[in-house]
Amino acid sequence: MTHACPVCGHGGATALAELRDVPVHPNVLWDSRDAALAAPRGDLVLAYCPDCSLIWNVAFDPEVLAYDTGYENSLHFSPTFRRYAEELAGRLIERHGIRGKTVVEIGSGKGEFLSLLCAKGGNRGVGFDPSYDGESDAVQRDVEFVRELYSEASAPPRADLLVCRHVLEHVENPTAFLTSVRGAAKNADTVVYFEVPAAEYMLRERAVWDLIYPHVSVFSESALRRLFQRTGFRVLSSGFSFGGQYVWVEASPTMAAPLAAGGAATPELGRLVASFSATLAEERRTWGLRLGRGAGAPEACVWGAGAKGAMFLNQVEGGDRVGHVVDVNPRKHKRFVPGTGQRIAAPEELVTSPPERVLVMNPIYREEIEETLRSLGLEAIVEAVGGS
Ligand SMILES: [Zn+2]
Repeated sequence: MTHACPVCGHGGATALAELRDVPVHPNVLWDSRDAALAAPRGDLVLAYCPDCSLIWNVAFDPEVLAYDTGYENSLHFSPTFRRYAEELAGRLIERHGIRGKTVVEIGSGKGEFLSLLCAKGGNRGVGFDPSYDGESDAVQRDVEFVRELYSEASAPPRADLLVCRHVLEHVENPTAFLTSVRGAAKNADTVVYFEVPAAEYMLRERAVWDLIYPHVSVFSESALRRLFQRTGFRVLSSGFSFGGQYVWVEASPTMAAPLAAGGAATPELGRLVASFSATLAEERRTWGLRLGRGAGAPEACVWGAGAKGAMFLNQVEGGDRVGHVVDVNPRKHKRFVPGTGQRIAAPEELVTSPPERVLVMNPIYREEIEETLRSLGLEAIVEAVGGS
């Protein structure tokens, strides 16, 4: 491949895998089966940088990604996810003494996390999100929303904590984005926290259904650190969270010269990358076999109609024949999965036609789902897809 790495500029990218003809909005649900089947599609042609270990889609076209109103991405209906957000907010407040201060969030969505940070620490919050529709699930007095990109012109004069979660992986040019954030973050003592899905988890746990079109990049810890160092930040610390699924970095804007690049790509990641194309093919085939084929095959239920569920249904052999798709988020019910067209049901609906197998789209929700199944009096074989 002849593409230069968008993080470190290295010119020796290797081909990782190709996912052709996948729905470009795996998070967008449709109002009819026909509309869902006709959902727009695109290609993932994934490259890997052997220097910083970034993974990115060289076929990405931002033109096909105009978000529409069907976008539903709130994870806050899950107790597991809420607990994670609570713990993270508490940790950031404690570690950096964020009390009675100003918290800025880039890509604040409906403001759930920002409101948490403000409520827990008595802080004032400013959320930046051009797609904010004026509807907050967690309205709070000290939180305001700005329907603009965070920039030198729109940034408030002071930010004690600058948070940006699950945004960077959507950005076509992460170096330009971070350079502009660095230009807007004027206080040297600002703590900057960024969090994205981790390449390490995707590769090690064979979480191949996490690869989606809106994610232009999949960052490893070393790629994330390298990006911050190259754009004028000092990396304070970095690590993994949410069962290893997310990688985060804490940094501060600094006038000092960036430190030497830390955390080069590991040989282990290189090995996983080399066999990844085969891994993807194997996952498609083996899950296809477990779904069963033809008449009399056990009825399977896919639990989780988020991006991962949509990618699984679209990529696995025979995924379009899966009968049940359920989700705990009531906003998804009676809507349809892009590409394969299943109608999404509430868990309670399973009582009328119990599935033999429940495929959990994210292993971290397994206990929560088993609990729900028990409370509904359902006995099904529960299997987690992608991850242990
Ligand atoms: Zn690179």
